Amino acid sequence: MTIIDAVKLTQDLIRCPSVTPADAGALDVLQAALGDLGFACRRLPFSEDGTATIDNLYARLGTAAPNFCFAGHTDVVPVGNEGQWQNDPFAGEVKDSAIFGRGASDMKGAIAAFVSAVSGFIETNGSFDGSISFLITGDEEGPAINGTIKMLDWLEKNGEKLDYCLVGEPTNPDKVGDMAKIGRRGSLNSSLTVKGVQGHVAYPDLADNPIPRLVKMLGGLLSHKLDGGNDHFQPSNLEIVSIDVGNSASNVIPAQATANFNIRFNNEQTDDGLQDWIRSVCDGVGGDYDLNMKASGDAFLTPPGRLSTVITDAVKKVMGQTVELSTSGGTSDARFIKNHCPVSEFGLVNKTMHKVDECVSLEELDQLTKIYSEILRAFFKGRK
Ligand SMILES: [Zn+2]
Repeated sequence: MTIIDAVKLTQDLIRCPSVTPADAGALDVLQAALGDLGFACRRLPFSEDGTATIDNLYARLGTAAPNFCFAGHTDVVPVGNEGQWQNDPFAGEVKDSAIFGRGASDMKGAIAAFVSAVSGFIETNGSFDGSISFLITGDEEGPAINGTIKMLDWLEKNGEKLDYCLVGEPTNPDKVGDMAKIGRRGSLNSSLTVKGVQGHVAYPDLADNPIPRLVKMLGGLLSHKLDGGNDHFQPSNLEIVSIDVGNSASNVIPAQATANFNIRFNNEQTDDGLQDWIRSVCDGVGGDYDLNMKASGDAFLTPPGRLSTVITDAVKKVMGQTVELSTSGGTSDARFIKNHCPVSEFGLVNKTMHKVDECVSLEELDQLTKIYSEILRAFFKGRK
């Protein structure tokens, strides 16, 4: 039987410079490892007008339910300022007991850890009652148009059901075992431009200053408490990120004024409800304005249940600590998967993700592999 070494697989994956939308051979590396373990592998490339074709991989071992799915991405964010890296971002070198390279933490290391855990699980258990699958996209760090959403559609159309899903995003602030995510807040970006009539400050009756109206609208938005949060979420929050008038003259009333703001919202709110509320506040002030709003997905929560229990128990067993079940942080592809099955996220330490000299320590990779092994063992326990 093949036991897959998480360190070597992490290195092999990092050596593919798969900056979105490039795949650079990363899925081939993964597919070869899964093929050796007996997985039925299916490549799912998707494209859309005006976007790059993205390659994706769905692999499944077994045909019975329950289907325990590991979801993730092989694409990585760009290197950034390469001159600042102390290590070649695509060499996957081991130095000071850590593997360096883009994607080490987010999230090639976690993919390798799960593959390694699966290889050990098969070695110990042989056949088992159920299935293990991988849902791996090359479009998570990019527009996320030709990745997880389309794969989930494809799975549904082809009668492939996921029963539980674990997303391997880096969730731990300091050390492996600190935090798992059982939900995420939604995010709504808005750009509000209030229009007026330009003129001389000495003749305000001949102009129409848009700034007071913009200030009133923002005041109305800020003075309203959206909600108080709940057991699993902090209160929803509106943050103004820029106010821009673009007027350098002190004697000119400007023609327009723009503010950009973002709302991170919990599951007490919906994207549609918030958009209606923002519009009603602006209409209350009146005048001519443009409002562009774009949501990146509603908030979601997988209430504590079987999935969070196997994660919590596995962390306790391997690390001897209680993992915090959190809904903090940004969005991930879990926001799409939640429409199909219970989903939680647990992976590596996120301290170096997207940064210069991204890395994963050998110790953390080993700890995560052990936790994933324990999750598989507990999930399929008694299902032989
Ligand atoms: Zn990621």
